[in-house]
This record gives sequence, C-alpha cells and structure tokens, in this order.
Amino acid sequence: MIISVASGKGGTGKTTVSVNMALALGTGVELLDCDVEEPNAHLFLKPVIERSERVETPVPLVDLTKCTFCRKCSAICRFNALAVVGEKVLVFQELCHSCGGCMLVCPEGAITETGRELGTLNFGARESIGFINGQLRVGEAMSPPLIKQVRAAADPKRLTIIDAPPGTSCPVIAAMNGADFVLMVTEPTPFGLHDLKLAVEAVRLLGIPAGLVVNRADIGDREVFEYAKREHLPILLTIPFDRRIAQAYSRGKNIVEEFPEWRERFVALYHDIEAIITAKGKAVSCAK
Ligand code: SF4
Ligand code: SF4
Repeated sequence: MIISVASGKGGTGKTTVSVNMALALGTGVELLDCDVEEPNAHLFLKPVIERSERVETPVPLVDLTKCTFCRKCSAICRFNALAVVGEKVLVFQELCHSCGGCMLVCPEGAITETGRELGTLNFGARESIGFINGQLRVGEAMSPPLIKQVRAAADPKRLTIIDAPPGTSCPVIAAMNGADFVLMVTEPTPFGLHDLKLAVEAVRLLGIPAGLVVNRADIGDREVFEYAKREHLPILLTIPFDRRIAQAYSRGKNIVEEFPEWRERFVALYHDIEAIITAKGKAVSCAK
C-alpha cells in the first residue's frame, strides 16, 4: 500500500504527519522523502544512512564526425533542447526530458547517450523502519525524474509512506501518482484553504481517494472544516496548536515519542485510511 502525504502549502506539518505515522506503525514501513529540493524527514526520523547512490538521467551526446546537420533531431525535440546552428549541434542538457526521440530519428546514428547528474539517493533505516530520500543536485531544475527514482527504489512488500513536496505542480504529481491514498495536511487559515483547494483538484484528476489532517486545528477559522464537509473529504485527524508539540518539533523531537498517547491516534489514522481504501476497492469491484 502506498500513502502519499501531501499539502498544497509548505509548512503545514506534512513531514510531521509522515514521520509520526511511520514511527507509530514501526515494523513493515518504509518512509520515502520525495521533497527532493528540501528533504528534511531524516532530521526527525534520524535513520542510519547505509549507502548513497548518484542518480543520472540520459541526455544526448552528438558525434559531429557522423552528423550531416539535417536538423531532424532539433525538429522532433518539443523541449527545444537541441539546436543545429551551422555545423554545430547544441545540446541544452537542462532542458532535455530524456525521451530519447532525437536518438531514434537521427538517420546517421550520430547520437548516443551520456548522463546528467540529477542528485543523490540515500538509503537507510531506523530500526525496522526503512528510509529513502532524494537530494536534488544544487542548480538542477527538474525534480520529477529524481522523485520517480526515489519511488522506484521502494520495497513493494512494505507499507510505503511518501512525504511529498509542497505545491500542486509536476513534482507533487510525481509523488502522488499511483498512490492508494493521498493524505492532505492543511491548517485552518485562508492560505491553507486556498492551497488545499488546488491540491484537492490535483488529487481528483488523478482519481485517488483522499482525506485530511488538520494541523494547528484550533487557530484560524472554520472555513477548512466547512470546505471538507461540502467536498465529502473525511477529516481523519486534528492536531491542536499545542505549545508542547511546537517545542518538541523545534528540538527535532517527534509527537509519538514525546507524547505516547499520540501513538494510538496515528495508528488509528492508518487504520482509517486502510478502511477507506478497502471500501473503495469493494465499491469498484461491485460496480464491475
Ligand atoms: S539528426 Fe543526427 S545527423 Fe541530423 S542534425 Fe541531428 S545529430 Fe546530426
Ligand atoms: S532526449 Fe528528447 S528531450 Fe532530450 S534532447 Fe532528445 S528529443 Fe529532446
């Protein structure tokens, strides 16, 4: 089962929820930090990192001794990553989406592949909880290919909890696509509601069941709660604004470790998600 923990807006407590659910469940869980631009789940889970791998994406390498400057490669590239200028073929590696189209159309076999570094994958564990994160190379603009690599490295036999990047664009889609459930973490403020609405639209396009965690639930107003009711989004957990929780967070401590009564609440959150996924599965099989 794959649960993606997302939020339209950054700073709502998405990592807190991901890490605490993983810690509450313990055995058989793998936490993937797909917020590859600013991974921080390791600061709270504190896994032992066992190995790291450099991740590359293929980009074209043109052999000018074979090239006839026919421009077929630049014509097919919809990302404008190739330009034929006089007797030169310019490759703009940062724009290349590694589709391989140019290599296929080159009539002279002048294009081969070389690698462009995307970043690093780090593998580790905290006791029985597996951990993988991706760290985007400084200056690299394209995070979805690295997010896909983090996901591809997951152990399918374990429950996968994904700490998704914030926002509603390509990186978060890469972290949600194919998940069994999207748990959206929000806060009851106008900004939280605005970004939640965008995130809900994205999740609905993907057709994934979703639910909400409302963090700092007793600040702000009731608009998020009203919206959830209107949209039939189940609120699966509320976390109050509690000075003790905030202090623990600022020291890099986790809720379920500092306040043991929360362990059961995060386990119950998982069981509620499991029940929604099971009910959806039954509804789909009945409809067939
Ligand atoms: S398609 Fe091949 S031969 Fe034609 S310009 Fe590109 S690299 Fe050169
Ligand atoms: S691999 Fe695809 S995206 Fe990259 S340069 Fe070739 S055609 Fe363009």
